[in-house]
Amino acid sequence: MENALTVAYLISAVLFIMSLSGLASQETAGRGNLYGMLGMGIALVATMILVMTGDGSPMLIVPAVVVGGAIGAAAAARVSMTSMPELVAMLHCFVGLAAVLVGISTHLAPGGHEMSIAAQLIHNVEIFADVAIGAITFTGSIIAWAKLSGRMGGNPMLLPGRHLLNAVAVLTILALCVPFSMDTAPGALTWLLVMTGVACLLGMHLVLAIGGADMPVVVSLLNSYSGWTAAAAGFMLENDLLIVTGALVGSSGAILSYIMCKAMNRSIWNVVFGGFGTDAKAAPSAPAGDTPQGEVDAIEVDELAELLAEARDVIVIPGYGMAVAQAQHTVHEFAQTLKGRGCRVRFAIHPVAGRLPGHMNVLLAEAGVPYDTVLEMEEINEDFPKCDVVMVIGANDIVNPGALDDASSPIYGMPVLECWDAKVCVVLKRSMRVGYAGVQNPLFFHDRTRMFFGDAKDNMDKLVVSLKTALAA
Ligand code: NDP
Repeated sequence: MENALTVAYLISAVLFIMSLSGLASQETAGRGNLYGMLGMGIALVATMILVMTGDGSPMLIVPAVVVGGAIGAAAAARVSMTSMPELVAMLHCFVGLAAVLVGISTHLAPGGHEMSIAAQLIHNVEIFADVAIGAITFTGSIIAWAKLSGRMGGNPMLLPGRHLLNAVAVLTILALCVPFSMDTAPGALTWLLVMTGVACLLGMHLVLAIGGADMPVVVSLLNSYSGWTAAAAGFMLENDLLIVTGALVGSSGAILSYIMCKAMNRSIWNVVFGGFGTDAKAAPSAPAGDTPQGEVDAIEVDELAELLAEARDVIVIPGYGMAVAQAQHTVHEFAQTLKGRGCRVRFAIHPVAGRLPGHMNVLLAEAGVPYDTVLEMEEINEDFPKCDVVMVIGANDIVNPGALDDASSPIYGMPVLECWDAKVCVVLKRSMRVGYAGVQNPLFFHDRTRMFFGDAKDNMDKLVVSLKTALAA
């Protein structure tokens, strides 16, 4: 039985690694997902058989898996792509909560086998680490969920002396580990519970101090924390697969956070320590930049179709609004129509466009846009001056020139798609409202910018019809 379990866990671990490698490119992402599901299926079945043939009760485990699985499936089936980050944050919150509960119950019901003093000490440290990281992940994820779902404002909460507060909390957690690890008597629970409270406050404080524009990194950072929590639980429960899976999630989340920080020109320590180095005065109060900064020049659909019919080189910049309107299929048809008459059409993807890493890539892949026409920001940023027309479809923050030259902007320092260098830049959005970071965009008032007001799906539908007419004429 033991050997069969080891083999099942080994197969799952290999499938998880193959899954991660598959997810690294759009062509293989579907296969990567399948490997991941298969690995998780094998791991679940093997663990359930192990527990039920041991001292676990099927009467508790089977209903828990069925009810939990049904709730998870219903929530995932109903969630829109634009609400995916909130769902991910909520799932991280469950990982953290599970780690806390499993850690405390492992301490309360230690399993009965005799341990040497050294082994007991190590086991206690494992429980302590599991509960500490779990508690930080739990409350941090709740705050991230509230911010991402708009239930809480996106502005950073920068308390005076916040770094000192964080340092005191970390030192308190470390200090509490000593009496807890040494003490095997029932009183040790008190140390564990006090530490859980401190870690919960620390998790909340770390994420509260992070501003809206840095939230993409926070999501991937919490993903990483949830992995390390699972790895710590694996040591505590002596479950090898949990250690491997947790380490894979923890390290891949950390690498993704690093990549996103680099793409946004942020320091990873700034995000980890919650606004480290952020100038409190520079943080925006309300959406202060919401005020218009001049006249805008609107364009109507027929005039735009005429303009595009003459264009030889067009770059499309999709953003969150394209996801909201579900306009990706029409955008693909638009690109096909232009290509059909010899125009070069490419898509420019900003690393934090939309509301989750790779959001635009997923939507464009779903619509069937060829991968070789979808380019990353650094691959295409120099091509804008040569481009005839840029179509910004439901994007705002990722094309905001203020990120380059306005030091008071919350997105200052983030590289953006420099589309204002094109001959004409057309921005499709419904109104003059701000984007996620809450700041007005000087691009809209630029003399080569034309605003194409309306819903992205409706406007693109009309544009495709008008463009076909213009091309046929
Ligand atoms: P933004 O949120 O900056 O702007 C989106 C724009 O789309 C809005 O200004 C809105 O204007 C417009 N819009 C909304 N609905 C529609 C619609 N139906 N039709 C047409 N337009 C619409 O999105 P960006 O993609 O430019 O930037 C992403 C932002 O999200 C960044 O600030 C990033 O930091 C943040 N973020 C990213 C995450 C990630 O992992 N990618 C995660 C969390 C946050 P209007 O209302 O006038 O139509």
